[in-house]
Amino acid sequence: MLNLVLFGPPGAGKGTQSAKLIEKYGLVHLSTGDLLRSEIAAGTALGLEAKKLMDQGMLVPDAVVIGMIDSKLNANKNAGGFIFDGFPRTIAQAEALDQLLAGHNEGIQCMLSLRVTEEELTRRLLLRGKDSGRADDQDESIIRKRIQEYENKTAQVAGYYAAQGKLREIEGIGEIEVIFNALCAEIEA
Ligand code: AMP
Repeated sequence: MLNLVLFGPPGAGKGTQSAKLIEKYGLVHLSTGDLLRSEIAAGTALGLEAKKLMDQGMLVPDAVVIGMIDSKLNANKNAGGFIFDGFPRTIAQAEALDQLLAGHNEGIQCMLSLRVTEEELTRRLLLRGKDSGRADDQDESIIRKRIQEYENKTAQVAGYYAAQGKLREIEGIGEIEVIFNALCAEIEA
């Protein structure tokens, strides 16, 4: 299995690049943000609880997203591998992911981290908010809160993978195709 973590702040291009990577490498895309938005669309209790936090730009509890990833890993036992997008977002989630994968005799091969300035992130998210319909992409103060949550709780997750020698940093500003090629080069290395 090829198991990758695509990492970076909100608006770094994780969703865009994931779509291209799953096509090229035949992987299953696991985005906790997408999974949570499906729960909201389905009107489940979990979705309703999560929405309150998501609308404020705050992270949902670790147990909620870890449980969702656990069930997706169990439901895709024959996958060629996974791209984790927007997960793990805390050290506790990273530790849980290692444990869950170990239970399947698997592990993460590498974390690909997209580097983008805060100014560019805000610009991209506001632009996306115009047609994504995502409430959390439309308000500058919520975008700022999401970036703060990233800095306070998520940025340190890179260190967790760096300590295992698995962190690869990629410039996330530029043409989509150029960034994609840089990601592929790291994967193949
Ligand atoms: P995203 O689509 O990755 O930008 O996620 C949108 C929102 O969903 C985030 O702002 C969080 O509120 C929530 N979320 C997504 N993934 C996670 C996660 N791994 N841990 C906690 N909250 C998450």
